[in-house]
Amino acid sequence: MTTVPARVPVLVVGGGPSGLAAALELGRRGIEVLVVEPRTELDALRPRAKTTSVRTMEHLRRWGLADRLRAVAPLPVEHAQDVVFCTGLFGHEIVRFPEAFGLSTTRRELYAEAGQQAPQPLVEQVLRDAVAQLPSVTCLIGWRAVSVSDGPAAASAVLAGPDGRQHEVTADWLLGCDGSSGLSRRAIGARYEGSSGSLPNLSITFRSRDLDTRELCALGVHYWVIGAERGGLMGRLDLDGTWWAIVQGVDATAGDVDPVALVQALVGADIDVEVLATDPWSARMLLVDRYRGQRVFLVGDAAHLNPPWGGHGFNTCVGDAVNLGWKLAAVLRGWAPESLLDSYQAERRPIAVRTIAAAGAQEAFLAPSFAAGDLDDDGPLGTELRAAVAAALAVKDPEFHSLGLVLGYDYPDSPLVVPSGGPRPEPSVVDHTPSAHPGARLPHAWLPDGSSVYDLLGEEFTVLQLSLDADPRPLLEAATVRGVPLRVVDLSSVPRLRSLYAAELLLVRPDQHVAWRGEQVEDAEALLAEVTGSPVATPALHVAGG
Ligand SMILES: Cc1cc2nc3c(=O)[nH]c(=O)nc-3n(C[C@H](O)[C@H](O)[C@H](O)COP(=O)(O)OP(=O)(O)OC[C@H]3O[C@@H](n4cnc5c(N)ncnc54)[C@H](O)[C@@H]3O)c2cc1C
Repeated sequence: MTTVPARVPVLVVGGGPSGLAAALELGRRGIEVLVVEPRTELDALRPRAKTTSVRTMEHLRRWGLADRLRAVAPLPVEHAQDVVFCTGLFGHEIVRFPEAFGLSTTRRELYAEAGQQAPQPLVEQVLRDAVAQLPSVTCLIGWRAVSVSDGPAAASAVLAGPDGRQHEVTADWLLGCDGSSGLSRRAIGARYEGSSGSLPNLSITFRSRDLDTRELCALGVHYWVIGAERGGLMGRLDLDGTWWAIVQGVDATAGDVDPVALVQALVGADIDVEVLATDPWSARMLLVDRYRGQRVFLVGDAAHLNPPWGGHGFNTCVGDAVNLGWKLAAVLRGWAPESLLDSYQAERRPIAVRTIAAAGAQEAFLAPSFAAGDLDDDGPLGTELRAAVAAALAVKDPEFHSLGLVLGYDYPDSPLVVPSGGPRPEPSVVDHTPSAHPGARLPHAWLPDGSSVYDLLGEEFTVLQLSLDADPRPLLEAATVRGVPLRVVDLSSVPRLRSLYAAELLLVRPDQHVAWRGEQVEDAEALLAEVTGSPVATPALHVAGG
């Protein structure tokens, strides 16, 4: 019989991507965590997210899981990297967006890991397996929270097991990772605010041999079909005949809808279709007014929802979990004050605002809005029409090329970040300009020995020494006094990093974001206090240079 502890340091309600990523961040640091998740099986027929972003792949690399995910992913990056717009899968190609979603087969300086297409249940399985290896994490699979309460000194939840018996668990901290229909949001009195998309959608998972045996008009990782009858998108789930499709503008809840006919209309041919699952859904652009009660935090979809256009949803959830995970661990291990946790909402809510805006903007450019009669015409009329639609489809570029959002998100206004006075690149969804301004993700670099600069970073804080003239010792000494885990990495032999990072010393946080940069440290004690969340009377006066 499962033993449920009466009290735990951290209770994670919901073991989807957010809950599992949070459990990993905490469990890797030895924090005792209890995860409650009702789903005993992961539903492979409802893939949901397909895009694991470049940034999430970097986190998976940090957790030692990137290669594992690539090994089990049914679609290797080498298979296809482009999003192809066409009139049908046997019709005409209209335009293509190369290297969508960071799917590149060559090593890029900008990032440590290319993106990966993988069905969400498979990613979750990789995370579940990794969490199961952590001795300090217990997963109650088949269990659910039936109530959550917040309080000034602790949170609590009543958990129901598969046999229906209930247990009350008290937690120092509770992470509400229970998605859009969970109960944590209500428990802290938070509310979603925002809007919904105008067109209903139908997701269909299906198998078709014809799509394997007949030659398609092009090779793509996703196909957007601008069809005369139907519009939407589709792609392979594996190389063995299983596909996903999203038909846009179909209300499956109102009247008879034939998924086989819909897939055939999307493909543009009378192919064999074995429907495996269907799911109607509508896009939602929603954000909570607050991410935290007292001892309860909302993580992932529980706090924000965006349409899947661009593939940001699950990746933003992982970003939340990473951000909160190291902070909560630092507080529980005693090297940071509880005020560190105030920075979670301050840092992550603006990222959700940007992400919802970027994905929501694409609601205006769904496939049906580009439909035009004669688009599939074989003659000059068709060629001309397709060229016109191809030009109009330029508005979709930010959906497929969004490194500015995926890598360029930053926390410049965070209370944990010490401004350096240098320039900050203009925020852009598409273009990513590497910059080591405080708050930014540390710009990635490959080192002369072929390793990634990220592989050298410590588990917690790291000082990068970029010149022999710079002295990291005051930081190291102050860290020892405060008990802050800090590694010094001497990169003075790689001069180009000095210019890439525009500093001689760089303080990097556990989540690979820059906390501070400068030429020398004047008051290392005050600096470390600030970046670990202590309220500072006169912020940023203790640095020089940068
Ligand atoms: C059709 C579709 C396509 C998508 N495509 C993409 C994409 O390409 N890329 C992308 O990044 N994102 C995509 N998303 C979004 C992505 O699926 C979500 O953002 C992601 O699953 C959210 O993770 P989460 O862990 O926050 O929430 P969820 O995945 O919803 O997990 C919440 C968990 O909490 C559990 N739970 C609920 N109630 C309780 C309770 N009372 N007690 C305990 N546990 C509970 C649930 O069982 C669930 O496992 C897509 C979503 C949809 C619907």
